[in-house]
Parts: sequence; C-alpha cells; structure tokens
Amino acid sequence: MEELWFRFKFHLVKLAYFRKRTRFKRYSFSIVVFLLVFSLFYLTLNIYPNLIHVQALSLFMLILVVTASSWYGGLGPGVLVTVLTGIISYLTFLRVDLPLHSGFEDFILTFIYMILGFFVSLISEARYEAEFQKDQFVALAAHEIKNPLAVIKGYIGLLQKKLKKSGKNKSFGYIREIDVQAERLLELINDLLDVSRIEIGRFLYKDELFDFDSLIRKIVSNQQIINSKREIIVSGKTRKIIKADGYRLGQVITNLLTNAIKYSPEQSPIKVRLKGKREGVILAVKDYGIGIPRPEQKAIFKHFYRSRRTQQGRVEGLGLGLFISSQIIKHYNGKLHVKSNGGKGSTFYLEMPKNY
Ligand code: ADP
Repeated sequence: MEELWFRFKFHLVKLAYFRKRTRFKRYSFSIVVFLLVFSLFYLTLNIYPNLIHVQALSLFMLILVVTASSWYGGLGPGVLVTVLTGIISYLTFLRVDLPLHSGFEDFILTFIYMILGFFVSLISEARYEAEFQKDQFVALAAHEIKNPLAVIKGYIGLLQKKLKKSGKNKSFGYIREIDVQAERLLELINDLLDVSRIEIGRFLYKDELFDFDSLIRKIVSNQQIINSKREIIVSGKTRKIIKADGYRLGQVITNLLTNAIKYSPEQSPIKVRLKGKREGVILAVKDYGIGIPRPEQKAIFKHFYRSRRTQQGRVEGLGLGLFISSQIIKHYNGKLHVKSNGGKGSTFYLEMPKNY
C-alpha cells in the first residue's frame, strides 16, 4: 500500500511539472483540445439526445477543456478556451432546452461557468509562476554561492602550500579536509546550475574527438586517488575514438563511479567493464551495494529523485547526478540504464554511439 502511494505521488509530481513551451504550441494545443472535446460532445448529444443533461454537459466540457489548456499553456490559453467554450456552449448545448430555461437563465449560467474557467486558468498560472520563480531563485543562489566559494578554494590552495612547507602535518590534514568539503560543495552547486541550464535549454556542448579508453582510465585513476581504500577493477577495451564533449561525458562516468562507491560497502569492489561495438561503445559499472528496487529503476533518472532506500540512509546527495547524466547521454543518442536485483548491487550500462 505504501509502495503504491509512493508511486502515485511520484507520478503526481510529474503531472504538476511545468515546462516552458512556445506560445504557438500552447495556443494550438488549447484550440485542438477544444475542437476535439466539443465535436465529441456535440456528436454524442446528437446521437443520444437524452443521455446527459445539457447544463451538466456544458460544465463538464468547460472543466475538461480549461483544465487541460491552462495546465499545458497557462493563463492565456486557459482564458481563450474559457471564452470559446462559454460562447459555443451558450449557442449550442444550453439552447437545446429553450422552452424550459429562458435565454436569460442560460446567459447567467454561461457567465458563472466562465468565472469558473477564469479561476482555474488563474490558479494554473499562479502555480507555473511560483515554480518558475523558484527555479530562477535556485539558479541565482547557486551562481552567487559559487563566486565566494571559488575565492575560498583559492585561499585553501595557498594555505595548503604554506603548511606543507612549514611541516605542520596536523594543520595540513585539517585544511585538506576543508578542501575536500569545499570541492563537494562546488560539485553540488554545479549540479544545480547544470539542471537549470538544461531546463532553459542553455546546456552547451563542445564536441571533440577523443580516445574513450583513455578517458575511462583517467577518471578511474582520479577516483582511485580520492577513494584509495576502494578496489576499482577495469576490464576490457573499446579501442574507439568517440566524438562528444569529453568534459560532459567524463561528468557522466564520474557520476556512475561515485554513486557505485557511495551506495556500496567500503570493502566491496567496483567493476568497470568496457566493450567496443561496430557503431560505438558500452561501459558497465557494477557495484555490490544496496541495489535499486525494480519500480524505482526508471524514476532515479528524473531530477531530485532519490530512492527510498537512500532517503532512509544517511548518504548525502540531491538526486540530480543521474538526471544530468541521462540528459547528456540523450543528447548524443546514447542509452543509460540500470539493472539491479534487490540488495545484490546494481550495474549501470552506458551505450554511446561514435557520432561521426
Ligand atoms: P544522488 O546520488 O545525489 O542522490 P543521483 O541522481 O546520482 O543523485 O542518483 C539518484 C538516486 O539513484 C540516488 O539517490 C540513489 O537512490 C539511486 N542510486 C544511484 N546510483 C546507485 C547505485 N549504484 N546503487 C544504489 N542506488 C543508486
């Protein structure tokens, strides 16, 4: 039951999520929905005249069309279809029972329906605006935090050099830890900035040709230095040159490796397997950690999504890494997916075409 509720809430959030769409798309969507619903209802009423009360039908049509349009397009399309639905249903459905209800009564009813339509459109717009402002705030805050942090990191570097020279090992240890945490903070901020760039379509790629195997070796050895106690085993070779943004692809692979490390016990190994195929490369990152339950295996690629197992534990994170990674891989027509059976660990597969 709890599982069902959890899944329901996840889909509910997706429904509320509002993307900025072009004006043309927003208005065309509302007009198409209006025409579809209206013709459907009109036909139904002609075939089965006594099936449903005309006033109920008008109200139903208005709610359906206005909710869909304002959800998709905000205030403008919502108001447009409110007016359209009001006028059309006054001229068609509501006039059917003319001797029973006078024209004035129908007019008042249309007026009440239209107020309802305006109200629904307004609420949708308010929700969109609140979400938009929140996104902008996150992007701005991340940007503002990044600047002083860069200065702090600069001074940490200077201090490290001084302390190393003076031989004060204990203080050097402290400052190293501060550096690690500052780096972590910077990564989190960069993730937030990347997400807002993806959202507004300003995530830029700089394509170059590079040797895929060397990139993997470099990233693995970096991770090996940071996590010296971990055993990271690399096997296979792709022997492929790839055309992509090396920095961005490196970001994806680093994310897969750091996740494998974060979500598995310290004494367990991480296995990285490379395989070349005619049209590209396959990379598999396997860990023996907490695993990911099947119902959540797709959801973890959505932004801010963290598995329930993770939320129960104390592993830190914002739930953005896999979202950013999947967007990058999607840009290159590649695939990123996971296989995991319960608590026996997970394997993430990355497939990349050569792109040239
Ligand atoms: P973060 O790790 O910051 O939470 P990610 O987007 O990288 O964000 O991952 C999203 C979620 O997917 C994680 O919170 C975790 O629940 C789950 N996850 C990712 N990688 C693994 C893994 N190797 N093993 C188990 N769970 C994982």
